Amino acid sequence: MPLVVQKYGGSSVHDAAAIKRVAARIVATKKAGNDVVVAVSAMGDTTDELIDLANAVTSAPHPREMDILLTAGERISMAILAMAIRELGVGAQSFTGPQAGVITTAHHGSARIIDVAPSRVQKAVADGDVAIVAGFQGVNVDNQDVTTLGRGGSDTTAVALAAALGADVCEIYTDVDGVFSADPRIVPAARKLDRVSYEEMLDFAASGAKVLMPRCVEYARRYNVPIHVRSSFSYLEGTWVVADQEEGDTMEEPIIAGVASDRSEAKITVIGVPDVPGSAARLFEAVANSGANIDMIVQNVSATATGVTDISFTLPTGSVDAAHLAIEEDRDAIGYEKLVVDDTIGKISLIGAGMKSSSGVSAKFFAALRDSGINIEMISTSDIRISVVTRSEALDDAVRAVHTAFGLDSSDGEAVVYGGTGR
Ligand code: ADP
Ligand code: ASP
Ligand code: MG
Repeated sequence: MPLVVQKYGGSSVHDAAAIKRVAARIVATKKAGNDVVVAVSAMGDTTDELIDLANAVTSAPHPREMDILLTAGERISMAILAMAIRELGVGAQSFTGPQAGVITTAHHGSARIIDVAPSRVQKAVADGDVAIVAGFQGVNVDNQDVTTLGRGGSDTTAVALAAALGADVCEIYTDVDGVFSADPRIVPAARKLDRVSYEEMLDFAASGAKVLMPRCVEYARRYNVPIHVRSSFSYLEGTWVVADQEEGDTMEEPIIAGVASDRSEAKITVIGVPDVPGSAARLFEAVANSGANIDMIVQNVSATATGVTDISFTLPTGSVDAAHLAIEEDRDAIGYEKLVVDDTIGKISLIGAGMKSSSGVSAKFFAALRDSGINIEMISTSDIRISVVTRSEALDDAVRAVHTAFGLDSSDGEAVVYGGTGR
């Protein structure tokens, strides 16, 4: 019997009526002759509300307690969804991440899955039931504490289950009809992509398109799990995220797949760093030791007269305080003059595998920004992506301008956003 893993995001299960609708969809899949395993997210904005609650009692929530708190969100939806399925006359059993055998590293808040031992899920399926697994959570391999996988982590739970169970497909149900050429909340003229490669999707996700969590795409690529991203509010065919086309495949690939944007990063500029061998190493050693993950780096050319230079880099806003402190503590050794933090930046990225063999893409990108009066602060590139840092308030305009400049605007109507608050 085919095995389908389905994941339902928060906006697909935001209230009792939505959960009943999802239950009916799961039952229909089961009755069509499939075994079904479901990963489910917390209802609506529950996770954000639980974070707000923790922040209302402390400025530094204890990571272990935070994870126990947040995993409660997915436990609510898994149990209610199992009840709703039973109500329709089909057996269903819900499992927490630890019960489902999702074994992770010890990193509270951003644990990585290291193994999935889903024997209880397999037993439930063998018994003819639908297995519902709480997304976004696992168990610390060292001490059996509950862990969470990071925001959007239910996507990764679903793909990891699909890989461990050898599922035929992993369906990610969300509040838009698939992966679009830009976030439909920002660009109503965005077009749905029928098919996108793991590589492009990885860059999309890492550049801020939160429709899939980056780690889930990495996982899918490693285990070759086909992902079908689609809406739980419609029956339209969505987007297939699959391996790149074979060599010699005659289908022509578009040069640009789409545009992504991200407001979750900040910029730190270190002014007056001595322009001598070892300065950058010293600075970034301090940053690395603070646990921050750096994205872009720019070093200015130094004026020969001064012998000093400025170095700017971007990092997640959540890592700024620790990185700031680490650089200040190492001030004498690095020998810089001043440190400036800017948390009002935005990053826009253009993604497309066809960029590798096409010229003039950057020129067209920068011209579109110029024509909209948007200033470029930093640039970084890979072979299938160009990213630019701008002012945060200019970001949405930049996305629309670039989308239009590359001819990506769809002529067949606006993209539908069915639900969710976009939070
Ligand atoms: P879920 O609750 O189902 O996990 P998310 O909010 O995490 O849903 O992800 C879906 C949202 O991702 C969409 O509502 C959309 O605003 C946003 N998004 C950003 N970029 C894209 C894109 N390129 N294509 C589709 N959706 C995107
Ligand atoms: N509920 C978690 C979050 O909001 C996980 C998820 O939805 O994927 O990030
Ligand atoms: Mg999500």
